[in-house]
Amino acid sequence: MIDLSSNARQILKARYLRQTDRIETPEDLFKRVAKHIATVENVNKNLWFDRFYKVMRNLEFLPNSPTLMNAGLPNGQLSACFVLPIEDNLNAIFTTLKNAALIHHNGGGTGYNFSKIRPKDDLISSSEGSSAGPVSFMKIYDTATEYVKQAGKRRGANMGILNINHSDIEEFISSKSDLHSLQNFNISVGITNDFMYALEKDKDWQLVNPRTNKVSKTLSAKKLWDSIIEQVLKTGDPGLIFLDTINQNNPLNKLGKIQSTNPCGEVPLFNYESCNLGSINLKKMVVQNSTNIEIDWKKLERTITIAIRFLDNVISCNYFVLPQIQEITLSNRKIGLGVMGWAELLIMLEIPYASNKAVELAETVMKFIHEKSYNASQLLAKKRGCFPSWKQSSFSPHMLLRNATCNSIAPTGSISIIADTSYAIEPLYALAYKRTGILENTTQMEINATFVDKMKSLGLWSEQLHSEIIEKGSIQHVKNIPTHLKNLFKTSLEISWKYHLLHQRAFQRYTDNAVSKTINLPNTTTFEEVSEIYKTAWKYKLKGITIYRNGSRDNQILQLCGFN
Ligand code: UDP
Repeated sequence: MIDLSSNARQILKARYLRQTDRIETPEDLFKRVAKHIATVENVNKNLWFDRFYKVMRNLEFLPNSPTLMNAGLPNGQLSACFVLPIEDNLNAIFTTLKNAALIHHNGGGTGYNFSKIRPKDDLISSSEGSSAGPVSFMKIYDTATEYVKQAGKRRGANMGILNINHSDIEEFISSKSDLHSLQNFNISVGITNDFMYALEKDKDWQLVNPRTNKVSKTLSAKKLWDSIIEQVLKTGDPGLIFLDTINQNNPLNKLGKIQSTNPCGEVPLFNYESCNLGSINLKKMVVQNSTNIEIDWKKLERTITIAIRFLDNVISCNYFVLPQIQEITLSNRKIGLGVMGWAELLIMLEIPYASNKAVELAETVMKFIHEKSYNASQLLAKKRGCFPSWKQSSFSPHMLLRNATCNSIAPTGSISIIADTSYAIEPLYALAYKRTGILENTTQMEINATFVDKMKSLGLWSEQLHSEIIEKGSIQHVKNIPTHLKNLFKTSLEISWKYHLLHQRAFQRYTDNAVSKTINLPNTTTFEEVSEIYKTAWKYKLKGITIYRNGSRDNQILQLCGFN
């Protein structure tokens, strides 16, 4: 039997296990997926089936939810991430809405940049009326999402972007100030370097009507920036997407500009492009020597090689809901291998998250994953050929790759529960907390198992500690706990935003796509601090930034995953 936590069993039963004449077991599920992914192999099918099955059943690697849910099913759509075009005409807007509904229904999430849409109250020559504007169309998309369940299991997620020079940017910035609006959207302002320079020099900034290319308003860059920060402080939205950083690092920039990411920000994509993700569980990548625990680099390398092959196979045995998606996805063959369980790994190695040692290790680990991923993709290119658009890429002639991108850090909102580990690269949220929403209308009390094990091994576990943890979720104020343990078990809100950002930067440096991370902040965080965080994110060359101030919304656990 697979060693699964009770949360994992619950979530698998409710959402992932197929129920036909009999209910799948978790073993059946992983076999179904491995079998489907191994169909791509021409020789040694059984060997690859075995390898794919083992990495999943050992919870060392898991693909994104749609692969787990849909692999082996007729028309099984296996990707989590899509970007769709938004053009400035009704026909195109509603065609994309229909396509988004099909993608959501099949388990994917969609991102869009609404900046081509003419502003609210602008001219519509065909009807002599006035236009609704981008925010109104987003509301229509939001409502449609509400009623189209993903494979009958969960709601779709959307990313809505509006560029900082769009005439309606002020309305967009406050479009989620009412906490009930746009609940199925993450929203992000598309920021350019020019805007950040104007802000640094305290210059004016022009808003432009995309239909006429005429300036509709001039205001100070600082005023616009401050209005963003005020909203972020209130609600956590909008996030920022740094468009120039994304495009400067786009190996396919000859094919055009990327304008959007998927819903949680970890994959910048062209219109109609899709990407499938998978994450290595770092908690399982350690080895216990006679004296200490350390990273098992050989095992990590082996897992990366299998995972890259797995994800490349996913593209070949995927079902694409639209021919346009099929064409560009098969041409660029983007995949996103990332990690989960980073915080748990650090705890096992006794390295506090809020330390330079942890940040250095983050770079070392991600550099290793990046290098080995590219090695694996090169090996596949030799056997199977480069990704078809390779000739138009900026890779040097000896860099023959099977995939235009290899790495993304996804939020792992569900798969980390299956693997019973911490989300992606996030610190522990709390040592004990009520988790709402794993399943609809459920609330569970959880205490971090790694924490309990550690305390027991040191003889520090007691009934009293148990009650104190349940009450406070933290050990910072508990007496008789040594300082080094208090540092090791600092939780998300007890860690300075500086370390949150340093971890995001360390992982982004070696991630060709992007890093999804939420900078969790205490309720007392000030306007100036939020402003500094957003500016630092740009200076650090992050591709995007999302923060959440504790208490500014209700359902925090979902917020941790970057959407709600
Ligand atoms: N996603 C979605 N709906 C959801 C959760 C996720 O469409 O309810 C998509 C979205 O594009 C997100 C990606 O899946 O960026 C990866 O999210 P996550 O890692 O949390 O997914 P998991 O594989 O853990 O379910």
